Amino acid sequence: MPEKILIVEDEIALQDALAYNLKKEGYIIETSGDGLSALEAARKFNPDLIVLDIMLPQMDGFEVARILRREMSTAILMLTARDDEIDRVVGLEVGADDYLTKPFSMRELIARVKAQLRRARLLREEMGKSVEEARHETLTFDNLTINLTRREVLLNENPIQLKPKEYELLLFLAEHRRQMLSREFILERVWGWDFIGDSRTVDVHVRWLRQKIEENSSEPKRIVTVRGGGYRFEG
Ligand code: CA
Repeated sequence: MPEKILIVEDEIALQDALAYNLKKEGYIIETSGDGLSALEAARKFNPDLIVLDIMLPQMDGFEVARILRREMSTAILMLTARDDEIDRVVGLEVGADDYLTKPFSMRELIARVKAQLRRARLLREEMGKSVEEARHETLTFDNLTINLTRREVLLNENPIQLKPKEYELLLFLAEHRRQMLSREFILERVWGWDFIGDSRTVDVHVRWLRQKIEENSSEPKRIVTVRGGGYRFEG
């Protein structure tokens, strides 16, 4: 099944060029020229990746990304026109998986698209494997349960709200229980090779996760810090 890409760009010439070139790579393409219809298209089309321009009519790409991030874990590759947008793009507010600054070459764009889709595929395979290995669809650690098929986490049988990246991080930690995982390794596997950020991103997400799954987040028992190393999930 070919992967699906939603292209959100209001400059028609660029939208056409992106659609043409990505179709040629074998992807199924949907296009959208403004922020509002982009939201609708993303919900209907359920893409594997969204190429999202920032300056858009009706609703800008920042807002589109913020809304979609709450609803789906689809990878987002943002197109920026100005260097001063980059901090916001990679920051926690938007949390794009990657970005390209205009003007960019089609070859560069295709390379980034492939990298993001490869990462998403690996993540899916890893999740699939853990489902198979467990031969049921949940991972349970005492009063903490991760439901893999529903992407839901329960604490004392009550669902807790996790952002897509928090969920992916928790699942990754849980799948590597009792292993010391360096920040760099976590960053590479959960955020991807091409993520433009640093290991503090991991620390921030660990802090958020602890607030949600630890009894006392200042004395964490589940996700412990390994001095000079990284983190270890105890269960
Ligand atoms: Ca634009």
